[in-house]
Amino acid sequence: MKAVVSLNSGSSSIKFALYTLDASRPPELSASGKIEGIGIAPRLTARTVAGETLVDRAWPDGGASLTHSDLLKDLFDWAASHLDGREVIAIGHRVVHGGTEFAEPRLVDEALLGALDKLCPLAPLHQPHNLAAIRAINTLQPGLPQVACFDTAFHHDKPALATRLAIPRALHDQGIRRYGFHGLSYEYIAGRLAEIDPGLAKGRVIAAHLGNGASLCAMLDGKSIDTTMGFTALDGLMMGTRCGSIDPGAVLHLQTQMEMSAAEVETLLYKQSGLLGVSGLSSDMRALLASDAPEAEEAIALFAWRAAREVGALLASLGGLDGLVFTAGIGENGPDIRSRICGRLAWLGIEIDELANAGNGPLISLPDSRVKVLVIPTNEERMIATHTLKLVGREHETAR
Ligand code: ADP
Repeated sequence: MKAVVSLNSGSSSIKFALYTLDASRPPELSASGKIEGIGIAPRLTARTVAGETLVDRAWPDGGASLTHSDLLKDLFDWAASHLDGREVIAIGHRVVHGGTEFAEPRLVDEALLGALDKLCPLAPLHQPHNLAAIRAINTLQPGLPQVACFDTAFHHDKPALATRLAIPRALHDQGIRRYGFHGLSYEYIAGRLAEIDPGLAKGRVIAAHLGNGASLCAMLDGKSIDTTMGFTALDGLMMGTRCGSIDPGAVLHLQTQMEMSAAEVETLLYKQSGLLGVSGLSSDMRALLASDAPEAEEAIALFAWRAAREVGALLASLGGLDGLVFTAGIGENGPDIRSRICGRLAWLGIEIDELANAGNGPLISLPDSRVKVLVIPTNEERMIATHTLKLVGREHETAR
């Protein structure tokens, strides 16, 4: 039997999922996990689908000096023992930026890596780590096929107007334009919605990916026509630690009047804002919901209001709304937040069934609601595995 691996490599963590391939069935999740704390005190954990712990490993000396490459080798050693003789036939990677060129997942070669290197300035916090993992695996396992799956790709064909910032056109031509992210999540949701409610999937739908990072995607017939993230993943909704849309004049003020350096402003906007900044307590929605502090309540209220307000913006792009889909950590597990956002959209004819909202979905709106509301768990790792298999060849799936 064979296997494929999905990887999502960040600056301090590597998330992974191992899928086994058997006959003509869809890839089956065998284990998922992460290595966290890279550069400080790494820890490798993995679980089965049922939640049973397969490994929970720290390094005896703390492991602060271990690089991504060292840890990937340890991960592969563990995966080899877990997979018990199954051959890993390919690795799929989440790559944050595909720029204007890459609208589809691609098999990695040197030319592609060179082209993706050039996009690092567009996503300096993510892209270099994504590419470093691909290169590390090229060295560890030369010849193993790798596939790059882009978070921007799903938004690639949105209307030209929705790609433009109102800045001089020469800058647009240099790549300073609205791309959009969370594309693997939205692609998965579009596919699931087509299975759950094919009629709705053909209509006007807003998907709300509400996790630590958060965005909305306006979909028409399953295709992205607008989204709240733009040039970077800082734009749009309020997030765990990111500010979302902000008056650019405030950013200039921080630099010119408050004399903050570009690096300080970057840290402020990416790591100290959002739920964390407004509450002064935590970036974690669960912690805020559990808190009695008025600042926690204000942060939650702002999160919900901003989300509803951005839904309003996407309504203009869609020309109305047939369905609203919640996904990701908060979207899937936060009935209070769903209820608050939908409450602000009641004027649209959205009526939530609070009993269904407290349950597992997928449908959480009342039968008479003019707009259907659903909860659909996302699965970016599976999307990566699916793309990877498609490119590497399905004949592997049946080979034993
Ligand atoms: P990431 O973007 O890092 O993948 P997730 O999609 O896992 O993040 O979402 C993390 C967020 O989901 C956190 O704010 C967390 O508090 C929130 N979350 C998880 N479970 C719940 C819950 N039961 N109720 C509300 N929020 C939750």
